[in-house]
Amino acid sequence: MASSVQKLTPLAAVEKLSERIIRILGCNPGLHTLQGTNTYLIGSGKRRILVDTGSPGNSEYIKGLQKALTDSSSSIQEIVLTHWHHDHIGGVKQIFSDVLNDEVDVFQSSRDLSQPDEDISPVKAIHTPGHTEEHMILYLEEENAVLAGDTILGESTAVFEDLHSYMQSLQKILDLKPSILYPGHGIVIKNPLEHVTYYINHRNERENQILDVLQKQAGTNLSTLDIVKVVYKGLNPSLIPSACGNARHHLKKLVKDDKVEHIVEEDEERWCIVTSKSNI
Ligand SMILES: [Zn+2]
Repeated sequence: MASSVQKLTPLAAVEKLSERIIRILGCNPGLHTLQGTNTYLIGSGKRRILVDTGSPGNSEYIKGLQKALTDSSSSIQEIVLTHWHHDHIGGVKQIFSDVLNDEVDVFQSSRDLSQPDEDISPVKAIHTPGHTEEHMILYLEEENAVLAGDTILGESTAVFEDLHSYMQSLQKILDLKPSILYPGHGIVIKNPLEHVTYYINHRNERENQILDVLQKQAGTNLSTLDIVKVVYKGLNPSLIPSACGNARHHLKKLVKDDKVEHIVEEDEERWCIVTSKSNI
């Protein structure tokens, strides 16, 4: 899921992106899904891995997937789901009924953080919580490529459930030093290190903007919406709830850092800057 709208680069329904990667567009465009969910067929042989499956009941997507399989003379060996959002897992049922001839395994991540990374031929699944708790990315060593799911998007920035683990997951992607990044939504990212660094800086900048709003109104208890209205000025109104969600994650982190105070007044949540005590 994305957090802002802009003019998007059109994507083909099916496109071969590299020796081992074909992208099949979910054909479910929207405010949060951008051009649609990107699903990927990975491998070079007769049996390939399908990463993510688009939204439920989308026959246009199923047609694209069938075309990709026919054109590459391959079939699906296994389905891998990066995370449990409906625009990534929704197509599983229809793929089973309309595309597959035999039963295949569906590999999904779990919420168990102690689980080690896992090898699925030909990719490695790496747990990267943040966007969702169970989110994972896939690393394709032969191409030094990362399939980023919704941790990183091709256009616009991502939303997350937990900022602290999200930042750690961004660092995990950086540490892999990928040469190319295939996101869950949007265009291929050919400058992954710059792009991921931008994401990290963007979050730090947001944090500073939020602190700035609170600082300027020190002594006043502000609601999350009060803060969002200043920080996300001009945002499409339908994206305000997502922006409030992100801002709230920042605020909770700032409370942990002892920079912001969390106040509940008559069931309403408010925030206030912690003013430094004078050292008299
Ligand atoms: Zn998504």
